[in-house]
Amino acid sequence: MEYRIPLIAGNWKMFKNCNEAVDAATQLLDLVSDIENVDILIAPPFTSLAVVSEVVRNTRIDLGAQDIYWEKEGAFTGEISAPMLISAGCQYVIIGHSERRQYFGETNETVNKKIKATSSSGLIPILCVGETEAQRDEKKTFSVLDKQIEKGLEDLTFDEHHSLVIAYEPVWAIGTGKSATPEQVQEVHAFLRDMIEKRFGNMLAKATRILYGGSVKPENVSELMALPDVDGALVGGASLNPDSFSKIIHF
Ligand code: PEP
Repeated sequence: MEYRIPLIAGNWKMFKNCNEAVDAATQLLDLVSDIENVDILIAPPFTSLAVVSEVVRNTRIDLGAQDIYWEKEGAFTGEISAPMLISAGCQYVIIGHSERRQYFGETNETVNKKIKATSSSGLIPILCVGETEAQRDEKKTFSVLDKQIEKGLEDLTFDEHHSLVIAYEPVWAIGTGKSATPEQVQEVHAFLRDMIEKRFGNMLAKATRILYGGSVKPENVSELMALPDVDGALVGGASLNPDSFSKIIHF
């Protein structure tokens, strides 16, 4: 019997200063004290990671970063490495978010380098994939996803894949209030699991958590979580408010 512990992840994007982040994490901790069998993750901006880690250390809430650089250290102004994220208390890293692809020149090749650096450091990568509205309209959804997964995971070994989480985030559903339908989500998640099976075998395909992201809110989370291949959610806007994020975690 396959069982994947659901993961509900909050991407705080470029919101909240240090004090606001600590306050939100403290409130959330209180609101989820009854939760069992759901992994909870928050990903504040880099500047708040260390202070938020003081709040969530040894609790039900894990900490994630929103990006990473693949070198360990060096003359790479503005970048942050895996050892730095570990020392700031992180367990997860979001990689290849569509906003990074769209505004900051992230490519499948840089995603691949980041995934490898993250996996080999012991951090858990969350690989974000998803098509734009134009690509869906042109019936290119599956070829786009195929390329993002193939290139993003190129040369990844079985062991490196081991902890990988995938997030399907249709670009047209992010921050728009327009979530994908349950049929669209299940179709893509089944396709992604099938891709993992072809690459890494049945065991890993069954163990890999595939999250859905794109306008997840308290009102639509339960129908999405009921889908057989949805193992959690990556939540942007609705994760900023501890009350609404807690409702999502209590799906
Ligand atoms: C996201 O940023 O990953 C996201 C899914 O945003 P939202 O929930 O606001 O659509």
